Amino acid sequence: TPRRSSVIIVGAGISGLTAAKVLSENGVDDVVILEAADKIGGRIRKEEFGGVAAELGAGWIAGVGGKQSNPVWELALQAKLRTCFSDYSNARYNIYDHSGKIFPSGIAADSYKKAVDSAIQKLRSQEGNHNENTEDAAETPSTPKTPIELAIDFILHDFEMAEVEPISTYVDFGEREFLVADERGYEHLLYKMAENFLFTSEGKIMDSRLKLNTVVREVQHSRNGVLVTTEDGPLYEANYVILSVSIGVLQSDLISFSPPLPRWKMEAVRNLDVMVYTKIFLKFPYKFWPCEPEKEFFIYAHERRGYYTFWQHMENAYPGSNMLVVTLTNGESKRVEAQSDQDTLREAMGVLRNMFGPDIPDATDILVPRWWNNRFQRGSYSNYPIYANHQLVHDIKEPVGRIFFTGEHTSEKFSGYVHGGYLSGIDSSNALLEKMRRDDGRKNESQAFL
Ligand code: FAD
Repeated sequence: TPRRSSVIIVGAGISGLTAAKVLSENGVDDVVILEAADKIGGRIRKEEFGGVAAELGAGWIAGVGGKQSNPVWELALQAKLRTCFSDYSNARYNIYDHSGKIFPSGIAADSYKKAVDSAIQKLRSQEGNHNENTEDAAETPSTPKTPIELAIDFILHDFEMAEVEPISTYVDFGEREFLVADERGYEHLLYKMAENFLFTSEGKIMDSRLKLNTVVREVQHSRNGVLVTTEDGPLYEANYVILSVSIGVLQSDLISFSPPLPRWKMEAVRNLDVMVYTKIFLKFPYKFWPCEPEKEFFIYAHERRGYYTFWQHMENAYPGSNMLVVTLTNGESKRVEAQSDQDTLREAMGVLRNMFGPDIPDATDILVPRWWNNRFQRGSYSNYPIYANHQLVHDIKEPVGRIFFTGEHTSEKFSGYVHGGYLSGIDSSNALLEKMRRDDGRKNESQAFL
């Protein structure tokens, strides 16, 4: 029979590790952390590529410089993480057409304003529908058609939105964003945090309570406890479990529940959208793109929305790295994940030659993350509808008996961000501590009665 611990935490990303830290600070050390991957971090993950730390997942600390301090920024300062200030609002003035001409800033600014107005109009009409007051919703915003309109629509909706509706991250924590540019990776912040409650030696976690390469496949639960089955067979028993796996994983059949999760929970999980966001890294023998200030981000306007649209050079983060990053989302991400990296390289080079001419050198290496096909992720982050009803968020995070839920998708204000994961880890572990106290109280009462 398996040894019984107090709490099993499934997943060692920022939310799971934060939950473990809070439990430990409250005297609950009898915890087992089961992580499917070969290292901690989850969607904070770097890979060595072209001589630098390529951040396949989270790259920025978003929301800095406001009245309130972003807790992830605090962690980054503690971990002495190297970061550099990023401003992608300039991107709209660096829009290339298919013949390599940059759109005049006036045209770009006009198109941008039009897109923002149209998005605001669309929001209002959705709000109208949301309030079931359809009379206001008569006007339909114009749909983007030309390459520049499509490019700006993509930037606005797949990246920004801040000028259309207030985003809690910017309102609460400030509007600045910092790109993590540290050889140790964004994940170094997690190691520094883990040092506080797990045994580490020479920068490695040596604690037997952390089980890497351990894939949870089944959670049996009852009024008395939980029994977790892993892919290789070992069973883990505990009083409670905290599940930090992504919404994409919850939607998949990776983990089964016995008895099954109640209908309200399944429905909420099904109703939440998953966003796919892919950063493709390209290494070149030398650089052929402009590197002056305000040229870090640039855009390619194509007749297909989202086709290799958003580009960034890495010279600010890693001078001399000769690297570009292009970001794809959703349909384009899935399409590219399904094809060979050579095909993707060919497509990307086609776009770059349109922008910079036929004589530029081929990339010597390419890195294509596959978050959608990763069975421990199934996407990049949760995407709540703008008029999400509070019931949806509530149902997503509400515990089912002894099963607690955490992760960025359970954060009402900061879903989709690292700080969302961090704050949700604190929330969920506090809710569990509360439940433990109540259950203990009940047990003591019944013992006193006996
Ligand atoms: P995860 O980090 O996914 O942790 C869950 C863990 O559960 C994973 O380690 C996974 O391996 C594990 N797991 C899954 N299934 C099982 C199983 N069956 N058994 C055991 N373990 C399992 N946020 C920002 O703030 N700034 C950014 O710039 C940014 N950019 C991003 C770019 C990309 C490409 C992606 C993918 C995400 C980005 N994010 C960004 C979002 C941010 O990375 C996430 O919100 C955050 O890291 C999620 O943390 P989490 O703990 O909720 O989930």
